[in-house]
Amino acid sequence: MDNFLNKYKFKAFVPAYITEKTGIIRYVPTDMSNEDIYKSISCDTEVISIKRFMKKVEGKLSPLGTVAVTFAATTLPQYAYIQLFRYPVHTYIPPLVQCYKCLKFNHSAKVCRSSQMCSSCAGQHSYKECDVEEIVCINCSGNHLAISRDCPIKKKKIEEKRSKYVNHSYAAVTLYTGRASYFA
Ligand SMILES: [Zn+2]
Ligand SMILES: [Zn+2]
Ligand SMILES: [Zn+2]
Repeated sequence: MDNFLNKYKFKAFVPAYITEKTGIIRYVPTDMSNEDIYKSISCDTEVISIKRFMKKVEGKLSPLGTVAVTFAATTLPQYAYIQLFRYPVHTYIPPLVQCYKCLKFNHSAKVCRSSQMCSSCAGQHSYKECDVEEIVCINCSGNHLAISRDCPIKKKKIEEKRSKYVNHSYAAVTLYTGRASYFA
């Protein structure tokens, strides 16, 4: 336990862009804690942290079968083993962040300095106060909500992010940004 905590804490002081690579494994039994997994995982690359994905259901967090595993490496191992089961390691692609204030991408409302914009009509107000009937996307001027997955600009941003992470999985040095969002 102490060892686990020490390692976990220590991680914060290691320059992440040189030594770490995060992948995901799926279908890990949900009754295993992060610590259980950390203690029983084995693979040919050193594991430095484990973080299970959680889902909020009716205000309560419940564990998902998907687990993020951070390795002390610049490339991901192909497999990790937990209690004799073999888990393929996949590249982790963090979800695209869309600001709920200005509705642009790759930053959150917490750090946004722009005005509150409407996700329904693209006006300068919250969608909650919106009384405009016409739906206009602020990013592409299309006839959908700014948060819609049908938005061609949003689709493009998602694709850009995906290809950036996939291409980088074999690069010697990968600069990870926004890690706070999935280790928070
Ligand atoms: Zn913003
Ligand atoms: Zn509006
Ligand atoms: Zn759009």
